Amino acid sequence: MDELRRIDAALARLREGSYGYCRICGDNIADDWLDQRPASPFCKSCAL
Ligand SMILES: [Zn+2]
Repeated sequence: MDELRRIDAALARLREGSYGYCRICGDNIADDWLDQRPASPFCKSCAL
């Protein structure tokens, strides 16, 4: 359920064009981090 909401939010950001950018610091999220968790709204340093 939680995962579904995250994927939904990721799709919404994809539509807005903000997908791939951290919601905390606004930085580009690293590709390898996105590969591991494509629905993550945070970059590696903010998520940890
Ligand atoms: Zn960040």
